[in-house]
Amino acid sequence: MSSEDKYTLVREVILDWYKDNNRDFPWRASKSLYQILITEILLQKTIALNVSNIYSDFFSKYDDFPKIYKANITNLQSDIKGLGLSNKRAKILKDLSKMIITDYNGELPQDPEILKKINGIADYVSNAFACFGLNHRTFFYDVNIKRFIQRVFEPQDVKLKIETIYTELDKLLPKTDFKYVYWAILDFGYKICSKNNPKCDLCPVSDTCLYFLKSNS
Ligand code: SF4
Repeated sequence: MSSEDKYTLVREVILDWYKDNNRDFPWRASKSLYQILITEILLQKTIALNVSNIYSDFFSKYDDFPKIYKANITNLQSDIKGLGLSNKRAKILKDLSKMIITDYNGELPQDPEILKKINGIADYVSNAFACFGLNHRTFFYDVNIKRFIQRVFEPQDVKLKIETIYTELDKLLPKTDFKYVYWAILDFGYKICSKNNPKCDLCPVSDTCLYFLKSNS
């Protein structure tokens, strides 16, 4: 199988798996750029289930940037304490809301690079927002995405560089509808290709996975 064929195959199999096994998180159906961006900040360094648990109450209370801007910081911290890192996370939300209101007249800028002016917002959040909110074909990864990329496509004993992960994502992502590949990998990493004891016997891409082939050679 050619290298190109392998990426096409993995993409198709993963998307097929996702149709029946996706996690039904409310933010995946949201069309609100505000909600999509704030959710990516909430999702940093916590598990998605924690965000799911507070999602409805949070956005009922904080339905736009002015609500966060005007909120008492202690109350905001309390409302997100279930996610962990609540002091740091609340400061990011406050700083972001302040910037949007004072520098951008309350309008969320369509340039994700601007978001990185906020201390605590880096490539992952800005690029995930650009992908899920603005439909830009951006590259970003968390531990689940990195683990999947390394196991399937890369030698297991090499420390992956950011550029390598981005190159692999560039080959794996389709030209359109790329967000579904990201969601599929995230859910696949949670349900099948977990950090400990991956369920390789249930895995639909095991035939092409370097980790699996090496473990069974
Ligand atoms: Fe992950 Fe195992 Fe599947 Fe490879 S074969 S992608 S390690 S679950």
